[in-house]
Amino acid sequence: MKHLEPKVLVEIKKKLLAHKAKLEKELAEFSHKTAAKNDYDADFLNLGDTEEDNALEVELFENRLALEKVLETTLQGVVKALGRLEKGNYGLCMECGKEIPSARMIARPASNYCVACKEKLKI
Ligand SMILES: [Zn+2]
Repeated sequence: MKHLEPKVLVEIKKKLLAHKAKLEKELAEFSHKTAAKNDYDADFLNLGDTEEDNALEVELFENRLALEKVLETTLQGVVKALGRLEKGNYGLCMECGKEIPSARMIARPASNYCVACKEKLKI
């Protein structure tokens, strides 16, 4: 990650940590942590026993599950990026090993792939 200046890395780390805290806060609002690291399960909300209540509970739970999945995946990406910062291989494409341009890393600090590989892998 020689292509990223130390002061840029400091900014990126700050961004990642802030993002991590925000995601954890959002997840805590409707889900709980499981025993696994950075894994959450959406909470089921009990609204009542009428058919209407039950239908709403299921709908709400499905929405929560979908949101939980998105937030959790993002959180895991952020945590992974922080780990790569520690290890010193941050900013290198996990597919081709090339340096990812600093503009991309600043705009999307949790990027693990260069644009070309991301398109190739369709991720
Ligand atoms: Zn690549």
